[in-house]
Amino acid sequence: MTSDFHPQTAKRSWGRVVEAHHDVARPGSPEAAAALLPVLQDRGETGLPIGLGRSYGDSNLNPDGALIETARLDHYIEFDPDAGVLRAEAGVSLDDILRLIVPRGWFLPTTPGTRYVTLGGAIANDVHGKNHHLAGSFGCHLRRFTLARSDRGVLDIRPDSEPDLFAATIGGLGLTGLILDVELQLVPIRSACIDQHVEPLRNVDAFFDIAEARATDYEHTVAWIDCTARGDRLGQGVFSSGNWAASGGLEPHAAKAGPALPVDAPGFALNPLTLRAFNMVYRRVQLLKPQNSRVHYAGFFHPLDSIRDWNRLYGARGFYQYQSVIPFDTAREATREMLDRIARSGQGSFLAVLKTLGDRPSPGLMSFPMPGVTLALDFANAGTKTLQLMAELDALVKSSGGRLYPAKDGRISADMFQQGYPEWERVETLRDPALSSAFWRRVTS
Ligand SMILES: Cc1cc2nc3c(=O)[nH]c(=O)nc-3n(C[C@H](O)[C@H](O)[C@H](O)COP(=O)(O)OP(=O)(O)OC[C@H]3O[C@@H](n4cnc5c(N)ncnc54)[C@H](O)[C@@H]3O)c2cc1C
Repeated sequence: MTSDFHPQTAKRSWGRVVEAHHDVARPGSPEAAAALLPVLQDRGETGLPIGLGRSYGDSNLNPDGALIETARLDHYIEFDPDAGVLRAEAGVSLDDILRLIVPRGWFLPTTPGTRYVTLGGAIANDVHGKNHHLAGSFGCHLRRFTLARSDRGVLDIRPDSEPDLFAATIGGLGLTGLILDVELQLVPIRSACIDQHVEPLRNVDAFFDIAEARATDYEHTVAWIDCTARGDRLGQGVFSSGNWAASGGLEPHAAKAGPALPVDAPGFALNPLTLRAFNMVYRRVQLLKPQNSRVHYAGFFHPLDSIRDWNRLYGARGFYQYQSVIPFDTAREATREMLDRIARSGQGSFLAVLKTLGDRPSPGLMSFPMPGVTLALDFANAGTKTLQLMAELDALVKSSGGRLYPAKDGRISADMFQQGYPEWERVETLRDPALSSAFWRRVTS
């Protein structure tokens, strides 16, 4: 491997289950980054771009190959504060962008549940947020981007000039080229606060009724679910809705995240007892009446960002995240069945999020969102029994016409992936031959 790549001992992604060795390059400019791809090709090796490593499984890993870290591609290129159009290098994080744009009355068109995501990572997984039912996914708001490829050099990609590469790169898992910079349309805000409405959720049926009702009045909606509840209370939790406040300050979030976990939590930190204690919080909320409050966007959109390295809470064996989306016509029955199996398994998730996704189509060929209901859960890695439970959930998702989110995955079968993403073969034909990943090799084998 060229000296631009430095041998590393090991690299883990967010769930910390998968660990792999890579040679890593950290180019300091777009030109240096683009120059790495032909080098890889000449050597017959593969690389993979990597942003802030917030994908949970193996979609951002390329074991025994190379990784191209984009951390130093972190410069702004242009910002038009009147039109809300931002152009920046692909390694700039949403965290940084928000500190630039919020004081000027702009916000990201959509944001995932963490700010520690790069522009390149947001495109490659076509991320979605609490406003998906209205705004669609991140890719819906892209004006253009620059893509470096080993076979075609540096390309200006727009929906009308390179429609195939535009569509294949959005949700393209970093395989169609290295995104160098991005031009994004922002949305105006008058305040950095959200007027939030929180209400108890009696059970999973109530979720479907409330989600439908709130989707018309609120831009942002999400439910937090207690995965240990069963019977009449299956799917109990809280439903949170919010709209941007009409007035108030434009103070961005604080520059630094909260305290970090200094070491891995012991494996028992998230055992069934602590989970039960955690879920007591939900039960208490059940006693409350609906409440309205004004909260800062950081607490509303990115609650986990206040604890740095919270992924170490699951101990040294790490954890899996499982995120599915099920079309509306089968979602009620399938979600009930999934929650029931999870509760009965006793592996109840520390975090469970339920949300409806809307029908605004993404330009991406392999975007995860589709109209339906998405359930996202964490499972501490307990080995075979965790894999067995997820295999049972897979069967349910598959038979209900749903699919799983590659950004969260490190184990699904080729069959499961290919059924959920029938356009994968088109992406494969547009893949940069110098790029590959552990995930892609597994699901296309
Ligand atoms: C706490 C938490 C909450 C989350 N909430 C949500 C959510 O609400 N909605 C949601 O959709 N996702 C969510 N995610 C997932 C996260 O948004 C995605 O995994 C995102 O892609 C991570 O970005 P990253 O910069 O860390 O990229 P990485 O994880 O490092 O990489 C992700 C993919 O992007 C590719 N990539 C990175 N940079 C480039 C580039 N310059 N050019 C081409 N390809 C590139 C990589 O090859 C890889 O395939 C969450 C993750 C966490 C940890």
